[in-house]
Amino acid sequence: MSVLAPRHDVRAGLFYPMAIPADIIATITSLRDTTHDTRVFLLHPHADNYAFLPGQHCLVDAGLQRPRPFSFTTSPLQGPGFELAIKREGVLTDRMFALKAGDLVHVSRPLSSRLSLQPNDGELAMVAGGTGVTPFMSIIRDAALRHLSTTLWLLCAHRTAADIIFRTELEELSRAHPALTVVFTLTRERPADWPGEHGRIDAAMLHRQFPDWLRPRWLLCGPPLMVVALRRELLAAGVPAGRVAV
Ligand SMILES: Cc1cc2nc3c(=O)[nH]c(=O)nc-3n(C[C@H](O)[C@H](O)[C@H](O)COP(=O)(O)OP(=O)(O)OC[C@H]3O[C@@H](n4cnc5c(N)ncnc54)[C@H](O)[C@@H]3O)c2cc1C
Repeated sequence: MSVLAPRHDVRAGLFYPMAIPADIIATITSLRDTTHDTRVFLLHPHADNYAFLPGQHCLVDAGLQRPRPFSFTTSPLQGPGFELAIKREGVLTDRMFALKAGDLVHVSRPLSSRLSLQPNDGELAMVAGGTGVTPFMSIIRDAALRHLSTTLWLLCAHRTAADIIFRTELEELSRAHPALTVVFTLTRERPADWPGEHGRIDAAMLHRQFPDWLRPRWLLCGPPLMVVALRRELLAAGVPAGRVAV
């Protein structure tokens, strides 16, 4: 099956210039809910050498001829197979939510991404909105499994505490790895004794969470308006464009 991928998506204007085949059969090995509307699928691709890197994504189709992109959330070291965390948003994701363990879907080969941990990164600041956390989950899990000394910061915006994807896993990882700091901000509620931030991510919040903007390399992922605005703030403050990946 060779089908046209969407040319634009809800993320930062990602653009697919050519047909990308989602022609690899993958078995859904297991499923679990991470929030009320986001489900984690463990997929086993029927392909040799299905090698992905943390931060990459693939296209998924479920018999609708409308493949959609989803980021790997596991480390390649956690194979066989890989996990995707899929939020119920529309036609394809609705169909995904109707599937069960043992069902088959189609996936593409892994697709490259600028969101990655580089060998010379001393410090990485990851800023996510909603499902934008998914590529960072893979990067964090991979860094933890490889015992990397890189300082990792994750600032993640969700509407409510109930919307936080991978909350338990991220809290456990940050407890186990002193080099990892995870902060959640809630945009639609302010629970009593909430330990994190409140409100949308803006320059003031970035200053509170990352006092020295010039030190880390930045990875931004989420709604295009958020990503574009934050990137503009970082560049205006003197962060070199090459140190901000979206
Ligand atoms: C690189 C990349 C990685 C991604 N990784 C992930 C991930 O890991 N997890 C994840 O959950 N998502 C991820 N996404 C987003 C995901 O690809 C989209 O949520 C997915 O394409 C939705 O497909 P769908 O067919 O279910 O939704 P669609 O039916 O295509 O709908 C998409 C959006 O448009 C809205 N919409 C649809 N039709 C209309 C209309 N007529 N009028 C107004 N609004 C409309 C829907 O409400 C929905 O919000 C990623 C996106 C990119 C670009």
